[in-house]
Amino acid sequence: MIDAFMQSPAFAMACQQYDRVADFLNLPQGERARTKVPRRAFIVTIPTRMDDGHTEMFTGYRVQHHLSVGPTKGGLRYHPEVTLGEVAALAMWMSWKCSLCGLPYGGAKGGVTCDPRQMSSGELERMTRRYTQEMIPFIGPHIDVMAPDLGTNEQVMAWMMDTYSMHVGNPVPQIVTGKPVALGGSAGRREATGRGVAYLVNRTLENLKMPSEGSRIVVQGFGNVGSVAAQQLHRFGAKVVAVSDYTGGFYNPQGLDVNALIDYAATHKHFGELKGVGDRITNEQLLELECDVLIPAALERQITEKNIRKLKCRVLAEAANGPTTYEADEILRQNPAIFLIPDILCNAGGVIVSYFEWVQDLQSFFWTEAEVNDKLYRQLETALHQVLQFSKKHNLYMRDAALALGISKIAHAKQLRGLFP
Ligand code: GLU
Repeated sequence: MIDAFMQSPAFAMACQQYDRVADFLNLPQGERARTKVPRRAFIVTIPTRMDDGHTEMFTGYRVQHHLSVGPTKGGLRYHPEVTLGEVAALAMWMSWKCSLCGLPYGGAKGGVTCDPRQMSSGELERMTRRYTQEMIPFIGPHIDVMAPDLGTNEQVMAWMMDTYSMHVGNPVPQIVTGKPVALGGSAGRREATGRGVAYLVNRTLENLKMPSEGSRIVVQGFGNVGSVAAQQLHRFGAKVVAVSDYTGGFYNPQGLDVNALIDYAATHKHFGELKGVGDRITNEQLLELECDVLIPAALERQITEKNIRKLKCRVLAEAANGPTTYEADEILRQNPAIFLIPDILCNAGGVIVSYFEWVQDLQSFFWTEAEVNDKLYRQLETALHQVLQFSKKHNLYMRDAALALGISKIAHAKQLRGLFP
């Protein structure tokens, strides 16, 4: 199976990260592949009736990485470049993330190779329902629970919940997380990833004895994660000097009006035609801006060997999954001028509140947004503290410390369960 994933640079990168940490942990050779290699991978064809009457055959994936401590958990991504290998890498990262944060889940990720920006709502609904139908033998509230990711949202989760519930014959809100609150979603789930990023950025600035008030923030990507992180930091008094989407971005050293940009993004598909808010810049230029905090919140593999030496930030907060290539990471780890908040910690707020949503659904007992946020911050604080302590104790780079904590707990759980039969 591993050969099929290996064509993906993201999967090769996830394996390299794992191998380095497995060496540090001195994991017995026999345990290594068992902890690393995904357990299950599904490829499905999704015939979808398009608005013009023709039938489009989309390809969909789901990878369930490990099943040792609970159901698998992770998002579903709609993007033109989704591949099986990319989804497998993202599933691995979900495993380490859930483990690091003490969530009783293995990692998973799904994807459909499609361009949701070019599809109508009806086309998206039919494709989503058919994908869910194809997945029914492999998912369940105690088997595998999906959530939003790049290109998917609360509405997509609502269609998935409805399709699964119609199949079972009664409402099953706990089949997905990140659904609308009206269908059993959790208060604060939509904002959770961005809120978590902002919390960890503020805590890091505090540790570095840098004031968050007036700190210069640059955000790549203005989807659910990037926009909420920018909004939260803006609210805490930081100056968001640049943001972008896939069409490029804006730079304004005086600070951008984040709330106005959020309003604009809600009614327009992209920033392409927006004028008068700052200097137009490309996504490449944005990464190289001088700032206090750089937040890549878009796709993986944006920070590479080519641009890593040009970064001029003090803190790199990885809101996206896998935004830094392995080669760039080799250079970054030698550079004490940049403090890294690694992805599996930085963006964990989303899956933490997904866990809260699942627990609330299973108990049919719902919490207020204040309760959700309070529990979210406590859980993030614990994870941050553990990573900082481990990094200090072993003189380890932040990414390696976070991965080592996540990976070692899974290896231990597998050892305790033993090998069946
Ligand atoms: N897609 C998000 C992530 O990459 C959230 C996953 C979830 O909530 O299950 O962490």
